Parts: sequence; structure tokens; C-alpha cells
Amino acid sequence: MGKPIVCWRCGAAVKPEQRPIRRLELCRSCQADLHVCRLCWSYNPRMTGYCDHDHAEPPLDRERANFCQYFSPRPGAYSPAGHDAEQGARKGLESLFGATPEEANAKESNTAGSETNSDRARAELEQLFNKPSQDDG
Ligand SMILES: [Zn+2]
Repeated sequence: MGKPIVCWRCGAAVKPEQRPIRRLELCRSCQADLHVCRLCWSYNPRMTGYCDHDHAEPPLDRERANFCQYFSPRPGAYSPAGHDAEQGARKGLESLFGATPEEANAKESNTAGSETNSDRARAELEQLFNKPSQDDG
């Protein structure tokens, strides 16, 4: 006997009458969707798209019922440690995405600085052009 099929979110056993898991099957304990990546053999937080399968196109939301034809429930899918690992991966992505706006802001401030310089140059040029007109008057 291997591990039982359990809810990926709360660890409650998936009842025999709930199997095979249909797309809209819910956990009897916490109402989590069961036909989800998190309960699938191919789920792998270390992979891009969190899916180990060669042909599956993983859905964006790995905790909502999916249409994946390759879905196959993985025994013992409930593991707080694995959840933590994914949280860490998300934080890493957030820090990556967070760096982009900061870089954009830095470029904007640089552009603003150069505009100020060009404004000064333009003002000096206008003063030069204004002098002859004053002489004419
Ligand atoms: Zn549950």
C-alpha cells in the first residue's frame, strides 16, 4: 500500500467515491478544488510553469480546477514543506519583477536631469538671441 490520495490543501483523505477525480470534484473537508496541479504527479515547483510533464500546458492558477488531460493524482500531495518552497519561489520572482520598476525610475530621473540641462542651455541661447534685439531697439 502506498500513500493515500489526500487533499493538497488540508491533507484530508480523498474519499474512494470521489475517484477518479473529476474536474469539479471538491475536498469534502475544505472545499478546495481537487483536479488541480497541486494534486498532480506532474506538479513540480522547481519547473517553469510548475509542471514536469513534457506535453501539458500548465494553467496559470495551480490551485483551481483545470482542464488538463494529463492530470493524475499524486498520493500524499499535502506537504507544508513543499508549500513553503513554492512561497520562496514566488518571493524570488517578486524580487525579480520588483527590480524592473526601480530601474525604470532611475532612468526617468536621469532623463529628467538631462532635460533640466537642456532647458538651461536653451535659456542661455534665448538670452544670446535676445541681446541683438535689445541693441536694435
Ligand atoms: Zn481539503
